[in-house]
Amino acid sequence: MDKIKIIKDYARNLKLGYIRDNILKIIDDADKKDLSYHDLIIELLKGEIDQRNRKAQERRLKQAGFPVIKTIEEFDTEFQKSITKKQINRLIEMDWIDNLYNLIFLGPPGVGKTHLAIALGYKAVEMGYKVSFTSMDRLMYYLKTQDISRKSKSKINRIYSSDLVIIDEIGYLPIFHEEANMFFQLISNLHEQTSIIITSNKGFEEWTELLQDVALTTAILDRLTYRCEIFNMTGKSYRLENRKSF
Ligand code: ADP
Ligand code: MG
Repeated sequence: MDKIKIIKDYARNLKLGYIRDNILKIIDDADKKDLSYHDLIIELLKGEIDQRNRKAQERRLKQAGFPVIKTIEEFDTEFQKSITKKQINRLIEMDWIDNLYNLIFLGPPGVGKTHLAIALGYKAVEMGYKVSFTSMDRLMYYLKTQDISRKSKSKINRIYSSDLVIIDEIGYLPIFHEEANMFFQLISNLHEQTSIIITSNKGFEEWTELLQDVALTTAILDRLTYRCEIFNMTGKSYRLENRKSF
């Protein structure tokens, strides 16, 4: 039998997709470069590992559920002065995730809260962390429908197995009592297991009104802020200042 075919069959059997798809080119290159047996084997194994890592990252990125991709590099710290380059550089080291710290970005619309949350989440995915992004109202929907919808259940399971959970836009929509209870349950369960990023247009003093329960709000904030860095973002709306017309 054709030896290439045998190699491909073995590679398929062992689920070595990179070797299966590239064996001809690899052997051709090895011939051209006059590689030693050692170097050829290193080339094969490294190619397989690189491809697996790439695929795992693509999968993590897809499962993170970012609505758009925003990057740290795109974030203009000249425009948003409440957070410094130095602080951002510290955040992208991600040791706050390893140490189970939470981040809270507070401030009016358009100051870059969601941008920063997504950009940090994206960076975390690149560095190998499991991330889940959801808006607060989608989260409420997933929590309420997890027993009747497989998609919701899998999103909730994904949240529980993440290293970082991003909950965007707390405060734009009203939260009913039953929802506030479910939210508390979720935060309690994630507490000291998973890092959380929260963005909100409402200051903590307004959260009581939002959640309509003093004790519950205190209990939620207690857990969220126990190990936490809070960024009060101020200034003008980037959207309004950079309004595009055509
Ligand atoms: P928020 O969540 O605070 O309401 P966003 O993060 O959604 O605001 O920002 C609104 C838009 O402006 C987004 O397209 C975002 O990428 C952009 N933006 C906001 N702040 C900055 C910034 N400092 N540098 C670059 N783009 C920014
Ligand atoms: Mg936002």
